[in-house]
Amino acid sequence: MADWRNIIERQLSEYPPRLSLEEAAILYDDADQNELLHAGLMMRRKRVPGNKVTYLVDRNVNYTNVCTINCQFCSFYRPPGHEETYTQSTDQISARFSELEAIGGTRVLMQGGVNPDLPLDWYLSLIAELRARHPSLALDCFSPIEIEGIADVCKISTKEVLRRLKQAGMHGLPGGGAEMLVDEIRLDVSPKKGSSDNWLRVMEEAQELGLTTSATNVIGFGESNFHRVQHMEGVRQLQDRSLQRGLTGFTSFIAWPVQLENNSFGKRNKGQNRIELGTGVHEYLRHVAIARLFFDNIPHIQASWPTMGMGVAQLALFAGADDAGSTMMEENVVSASGTTKTLAGEDELQRTIIRAGFVPQKRDSDYNNLRTQIIEEGLLPCAPPIQPV
Ligand code: SF4
Repeated sequence: MADWRNIIERQLSEYPPRLSLEEAAILYDDADQNELLHAGLMMRRKRVPGNKVTYLVDRNVNYTNVCTINCQFCSFYRPPGHEETYTQSTDQISARFSELEAIGGTRVLMQGGVNPDLPLDWYLSLIAELRARHPSLALDCFSPIEIEGIADVCKISTKEVLRRLKQAGMHGLPGGGAEMLVDEIRLDVSPKKGSSDNWLRVMEEAQELGLTTSATNVIGFGESNFHRVQHMEGVRQLQDRSLQRGLTGFTSFIAWPVQLENNSFGKRNKGQNRIELGTGVHEYLRHVAIARLFFDNIPHIQASWPTMGMGVAQLALFAGADDAGSTMMEENVVSASGTTKTLAGEDELQRTIIRAGFVPQKRDSDYNNLRTQIIEEGLLPCAPPIQPV
């Protein structure tokens, strides 16, 4: 069996070979923490050269909390008929978009539950109206399970739902709902979400249609390190197929730990002393480094400040992440399960990046660089200590 030192040595070579699933699991299980994080940082410098860390000024909008899927880790949803359900009107959503425009935002991430009372026409007129009122904002909306829910209600294919949403003005399909793409884990915590193949199939359809997509990963359900790498393997295989077909594929990969408060998953394990649940800093950073080494076909790895905090997000930049995520402005899904910080100003993200020793670079949803006032006006407080490679 390969030794973790040899694997890291090969990854640090001039032409590193593709990291196999088995090698990634060995690194995850055995590699020295400092060596692994260093390898992640070196690979980041190879794949995303320079010293910039990108970020996005956006906002989340959770348009409905009605959902029939009952994921065990979710504290956000309410079943149909529950007294706390809501569905926002176009005007309510549009008002939130206007707040984002006022601070120079460029992207909205709009997601909700699987609401059986909303037909496709409701979504199409919502997207078309928002597109018309807010032409400068990229509308990255829904997730594969919401697309499946709409397809079920309307008795048409998921691909057709995506096609019509794109025609109405949708820009991207964010990668929410992937959680753990290993069926024995997935079907335990989200049995109604269906198999991993469902998520991958809908994302592939979105990529075929030219929608911007990202890949996500939630860890800490008690899965093994091998399961975590299996998740990455499913995403990497799809990315290979898409790139071979000349598609853009996933722009980025972002992972975060499951939250254990206020949800069935936390309650069912309470008092059982299952210390393997959730994720600590040490483990999260290993995951970021493994992702950077594993994904030779996905350019950007994000750090997750809402679940790990700004300090750990800074450390993630030294484990291979090259993107600090987004301002969000509001978040109601993960926060319902225990995170406390769900918004950050652009200046706060910039400060976080600068104080970690990098240069902040504003971007759009497709990772195109945008004008970043603090750089262009020479307002950086001091020369960042880390030099570009
Ligand atoms: S995570 Fe999404 S699909 Fe699952 S219950 Fe919550 S809102 Fe519904």
